[in-house]
Amino acid sequence: MDLLLLALLVALAVWTGRKVKRSVESRSAARRWNETPGSSADNPIVLTSGKQMQDAIASVRCQCGGRVIPLGETPRLGLRVARGRCADCERDVDLYFVMPNYVN
Ligand SMILES: [Zn+2]
Repeated sequence: MDLLLLALLVALAVWTGRKVKRSVESRSAARRWNETPGSSADNPIVLTSGKQMQDAIASVRCQCGGRVIPLGETPRLGLRVARGRCADCERDVDLYFVMPNYVN
């Protein structure tokens, strides 16, 4: 009986440890993503050429590290937004761009 309880406690400790580790990794991935230029309307990529936009869309990765499938562009709040979806976790990944003449 004591052995069973011990096994249960060890399993619970391992499970809790993994959960905490996953949570910390997820938060740090979210922080890295938020610091990435283009990740939000407050931090858009300043466009210098049309090719730069294509390159940014082609190279962007989801917070989980997955490849992003482009879903097209849309204007939003005076910015150009390239919409995409992660091929792995299906999270929406939007990239924000601004034309140089919009920058104050
Ligand atoms: Zn993902």
